[in-house]
Amino acid sequence: MDNPPGTDLNTVNVPEELRPVFLRAQDYVRDYFSDVQNDPEKGLIKYSGERYILVRASAMSKELFDMMALMYSDRGKEEARDLSFNFLFDIAHSIGKADAKSFFIKMGVTDPIEKLSAGPVHFAYTGWASVKIHPLSNPRPDDHYYLIYDHPYSFEAQAWMDKGEKTDYPVCVMNAGYSSGWCEESFGVPLVTAEVECRAKGDRHCRFIMAPPSKIKDHIAKYSKKAYIKYENYNKIDIPEFFKRKRLEDALRNRKDQLEDLVQKRTDNLTKANKELEEANIAMKVVLKQMEQKEKADKENFLTNIKHSVLPYLNEIAGTGLNPEQKILLAQLEKNISRITSPLIGKLSSSYLNLTPMEIKVAGLVRDGVPNKEIAEILNASLNTITSHRYKIRTKLGLKNKDSNLRSYLLSLE
Ligand SMILES: [Zn+2]
Repeated sequence: MDNPPGTDLNTVNVPEELRPVFLRAQDYVRDYFSDVQNDPEKGLIKYSGERYILVRASAMSKELFDMMALMYSDRGKEEARDLSFNFLFDIAHSIGKADAKSFFIKMGVTDPIEKLSAGPVHFAYTGWASVKIHPLSNPRPDDHYYLIYDHPYSFEAQAWMDKGEKTDYPVCVMNAGYSSGWCEESFGVPLVTAEVECRAKGDRHCRFIMAPPSKIKDHIAKYSKKAYIKYENYNKIDIPEFFKRKRLEDALRNRKDQLEDLVQKRTDNLTKANKELEEANIAMKVVLKQMEQKEKADKENFLTNIKHSVLPYLNEIAGTGLNPEQKILLAQLEKNISRITSPLIGKLSSSYLNLTPMEIKVAGLVRDGVPNKEIAEILNASLNTITSHRYKIRTKLGLKNKDSNLRSYLLSLE
């Protein structure tokens, strides 16, 4: 860099005011690439001691596109193109940044404009394209950064043209990626490049606009008003985004996490609601049980009261020498009271079962576990009569041909 710069700037085309700095860059980049070591026996190529690899240009552009299109044929050409674009842009942007960083250290370059100037010369020496920077460019290390430039011999557009194929979209995505990577590293601000015209689609130039991501669309809109190409075509220009796929994957993963959270929250809510229902159920069962117990106690209480405070008086009345009419009334009263006090008798005497009063008495004693012989004595009847009553009761209860125990059945009726 101490040598006086040459005067013939032939690797790049830049506005007049940038000539001196680019002449210096041309000198030291030329020096850098003049120290070459090509050693196929070891399989290595080195420039200034730094190892390089040669890649066939068409394999990294047209042929890769075709292969991706074939691989993604089920998803359509556009998605295949999108994937190839993203992949190539990311690779080229990364290489541009890394090359720039390594070159700045090696050559001791520190000034941003000087750093930038090495990029296009380096680009020309590595065979990507030559660079023509337009006078409207305003490269500066802030939000107002703007670079408008052509790559007259882009290896990418060339690959399509050599195959005689015309596209309806710009193809120089690695050119865009590499140059934005290099300049981003030079100025320390995030930069993105869109190719606004491309020779592969029949335009006169491969023309690029580079700006911070937040400004690029405005610049493209402004440029399109002056361009010879129809304005609506500029709305379709693809603006590459470094690691777009990662951003999309992150968004997808975030969405997935959010959904999982949502499912977990809903599951928690359901579990909670379920638990509350279970608890309410238990509480309800306890209340029901208490109510049943109270009802039973009330019933028993009622029966005890009748037994102790009503029946003794009826017995006494019976012993007071009643006339026949009064006896009939008293008998009816006793019958009614027993109907009310015995749920079993109530059921047995219902019109459905239709047991006679005698049969009801026998059934009551059978239920109480009294043997036939004793029943006969209590009711002042013969054993045969009681057996006959039992037979009729079984018939009326529908137990005639069944092996059921009459007493168990009667108990179950209560
Ligand atoms: Zn192009």
